[in-house]
Amino acid sequence: MERTYIMLKPDSVKRRLVGRIISRIEDKGLNITAMKMFKLDEKILKEHYSHIADQPFFPEIVKFMTSGPVIGMIVEGPSAVQQMRNIIGATRCLDADAGSIRGDFAFTNGENLIHGSDTVENAEIEIKRFFGKI
Ligand code: UDP
Ligand code: MG
Repeated sequence: MERTYIMLKPDSVKRRLVGRIISRIEDKGLNITAMKMFKLDEKILKEHYSHIADQPFFPEIVKFMTSGPVIGMIVEGPSAVQQMRNIIGATRCLDADAGSIRGDFAFTNGENLIHGSDTVENAEIEIKRFFGKI
């Protein structure tokens, strides 16, 4: 069964949207098979976001992503990676369709509530990074 790494960002927790976001994942028929709340540091963010680490907005992302706890999850189901990307919506808030999590709740590009792996290969790398061997 395909699996993906999902992470509710600090704004999801601060805005008390965790329950509603988790409901959307469950409503779709996907299974949450692991979940934990923890805090990120700059070192792990530089790994996780290595593809944007040289962008001018990266320091802002670090500040945001370390501003409070996140909730990491493993989500499983057929085509879990793409299903979750569809539920999450586009990165830029103005591009995110209404009905998607970001389309309905996010109003900036940086503070966009939720991370989802972009490929099956990256999902396995990210699961290992945040959950170890599981
Ligand atoms: N990000 C941003 N501005 C951008 C691109 C990305 O603030 O122009 C932030 C945003 O929080 C995004 C994260 O960097 O979720 C990782 O970027 P990526 O391109 O991987 O987007 P995602 O996979 O989260 O949709
Ligand atoms: Mg990404």
